[in-house]
Amino acid sequence: MVTLEKYSFGVGDRFAHQAKAQLRACMMAVENGAAVVPVWNKSFREHTMIGSQPPEVRLAADAAVRALGWDRPYYVDADHIRLETVDAFIASSDFYTIDVADAIGRPAEANAFQEFVARHTELVGQLSIPGIEQPFHIERAEVERVAAKYLRAVQEAGQIYRHIAGAKGAGNFITEVSMDETDSPQTPPELLVILAALADEGVPLQTIAPKFTGRFNKGVDYVGDLAQFEREFNDDLAVIAYAVKQYDLPQNLKLSVHSGSDKFSIYAPIRRALQRFDAGLHLKTAGTTWLEEVIGLAESGGAGLEMAKEIYAHALEKQEALCAPYAAVIDIDANQLPSAAVVNGWTAEQFVASLRHDPTCPQFNPHVRQLLHVGYKVAAQMGERYLTMLEACEDKVSENVTTNLYERHLKPLFVTG
Ligand SMILES: [Zn+2]
Repeated sequence: MVTLEKYSFGVGDRFAHQAKAQLRACMMAVENGAAVVPVWNKSFREHTMIGSQPPEVRLAADAAVRALGWDRPYYVDADHIRLETVDAFIASSDFYTIDVADAIGRPAEANAFQEFVARHTELVGQLSIPGIEQPFHIERAEVERVAAKYLRAVQEAGQIYRHIAGAKGAGNFITEVSMDETDSPQTPPELLVILAALADEGVPLQTIAPKFTGRFNKGVDYVGDLAQFEREFNDDLAVIAYAVKQYDLPQNLKLSVHSGSDKFSIYAPIRRALQRFDAGLHLKTAGTTWLEEVIGLAESGGAGLEMAKEIYAHALEKQEALCAPYAAVIDIDANQLPSAAVVNGWTAEQFVASLRHDPTCPQFNPHVRQLLHVGYKVAAQMGERYLTMLEACEDKVSENVTTNLYERHLKPLFVTG
């Protein structure tokens, strides 16, 4: 039985050049007492955008692990897969993020709804959950509403899980269920109903990615009510611990936070909550590494800086098309985007200061950062020219990738003292 460790860290490596730099950040965490394992994640959407194939992620991860002598576990995550996209990931992945967000709100298959409500009378009424001060009070109508909304998604998760298990053998991979790419957040009582349903469906999930309250815009910090986030995050952890016992779900079941890069202000609340419940965490990042590549190019000066400026100019030109698929998770004020001519006049320091995610830096520009976050297609279209430049600027690029993941993510989340 492949069992995911307590602390795991999802990294995305869009151009398959940073696996070593990413692994180095995990090694630093381990050296500092935090037993974190890396998970390389790449979605079907990213592969399509880049023109890469799932086995390339496995090759890059294996090569980095060999080169650095990493002797702990590591995984390759087929991120946000669905029934129609999973097959290409069967050979190379051992972690599957089953995305059922699109099925939320669709009617469930015959009788499932009535059967669920009849079977789960324990969910109706007063429910005391250890770790939550106020007992939940869930009316029957509310259980019915949540079941009606999520049962179809749960059934689809079961279908996809069984498809993977049929191909790989149950127990040979880690299952995550994700519901984060949807409009409304799932509250802790909803999470409980969803977990009960997933247990009924026989999905041995080890991580679950709900949609949390607040905005998770790409590349920039969390926007929302931090106190509410912390309360709900704590309640989610309590609900998971309770559901594991009540519904016989995997002991190591934990939350997966799809960060959309760099949600620095929720790291302290998350860390407090994990300590309080002695809970594990999977934190997923992806685009933050691609942005460090651009920062590394700029910091290298010369041709690297020129290419970083070229990427910005193209991204600005194609802003509408690049932003469209991410409309729900970006907030760009076009008036705050400098013109290509202005950026062309920037020094390396100016470019880096506007892009690097240091909210205390007066030059930091979250609009530039969000645009470039969704602008990786521009680099993909440069093809070999981009990859050659990455290699030429490798020193600066890998230094930025490692420092970003360790100092800004792993350390605040997992490293004590
Ligand atoms: Zn996600």
